[in-house]
Amino acid sequence: MIAMNDTFSTLQPLGWSEEWAGSISGIGVSGWRPGRIAVEHKNRYRLWDGEREFEGIVSGRFHHEACKPSDFPVVGDWVLFEPSEYAGPVSIQKILPRRSCLTRKAAGETSSNQPLAANFDKVLITTSCNADFSLNRILRFLTLAQSSNILPIVLLTKLDLINDPTVMIDEVRCQVGAVPVLPVSAKTGEGLDVLQTYLQPGQTIAVVGSSGVGKSTLVNRLMDSSLLAVNPVREWDDKGRHTTTHRQMVLLPDGAILIDTPGIREVGLIDSEGGIEATFPEILERMKECRFTDCQHEAEPGCAVQLALANGEIQLDRYKQFTKMRNESDYQHRRESVHLQQQRKRQDKQVHQMQKQIYKNRDKR
Ligand code: GDP
Ligand code: ZN
Repeated sequence: MIAMNDTFSTLQPLGWSEEWAGSISGIGVSGWRPGRIAVEHKNRYRLWDGEREFEGIVSGRFHHEACKPSDFPVVGDWVLFEPSEYAGPVSIQKILPRRSCLTRKAAGETSSNQPLAANFDKVLITTSCNADFSLNRILRFLTLAQSSNILPIVLLTKLDLINDPTVMIDEVRCQVGAVPVLPVSAKTGEGLDVLQTYLQPGQTIAVVGSSGVGKSTLVNRLMDSSLLAVNPVREWDDKGRHTTTHRQMVLLPDGAILIDTPGIREVGLIDSEGGIEATFPEILERMKECRFTDCQHEAEPGCAVQLALANGEIQLDRYKQFTKMRNESDYQHRRESVHLQQQRKRQDKQVHQMQKQIYKNRDKR
């Protein structure tokens, strides 16, 4: 069993509660400790225990028993880990059953749903008051939040950019019923005091919304001392080299926990087949006209995209938005394919073992 009393008060600011403590009775092994996944980077994790941040990887046994993507930890998960005796990563042993989870319907090969982040109390559905305002998108996120048992809040950002927001705000309020609709500006600070009243200490809040609506700016502003939020985390790439990644879970000065991962940013958008294509048809059209089929649209000769950018047929702003959204979508695909590779390896191993068994039985006869 795990000695919990001494860790309870340090874990509480991360969202730990009596219920969580109760959920580990009986499954712990002496020496295992609870922690929360703050960053996921390929198959490496960063965990918090309220005092320190650890690097972690799933244990061999965990890996062996996991059979689908949702069996692996995501940001926001509570896990039990075995501390490392050396300087190396700690070993993640178990995920505590998730209370809530934002999932993305997996496309293509995988048949299961892809969890993106777990254990929220609330979700901030973020859309900007200006150009990319979309009632449809708000409603899509709302459905998703409601189907995941998470309390939604609609956040209309960049309030400073429009003259008279009342019509728009009323329209949204009318469509979403009892869901709170909060107009804010990260630039002027307007509306942030009201938002703060929805962000209670120990609560976990996910931030979702399209690229460019102002999520990072808002998180930084709420962090106040923007140092922590802006400072990227150093991570490892496939070859063990260090790369940087952005914080995916932050602890606000007032005690709420915000989760803002690239994965959940576009949830409900990318999974709607062809969302990006439908949004940027003029760019997709041009891409087909490039001389090389694998054109990166940078400096290649005969690049139709560069030409269209130069003569104004594609707006630079839209092209930037397009590449940003596509990169976030790629991130999701890469993440999926890591899990797929792992799954295949395991299946290969099982087949191999079965073959061995068959040969063995045959030899006996
Ligand atoms: P994200 O992709 O959702 O994280 O969006 P960012 O936080 O990167 O913001 C996108 C752009 O919108 C940046 O150029 C910000 O400076 C700008 N922006 C963010 N919030 C506000 C705001 O409240 N008012 C104005 N005028 N611009 C904002
Ligand atoms: Zn090109």
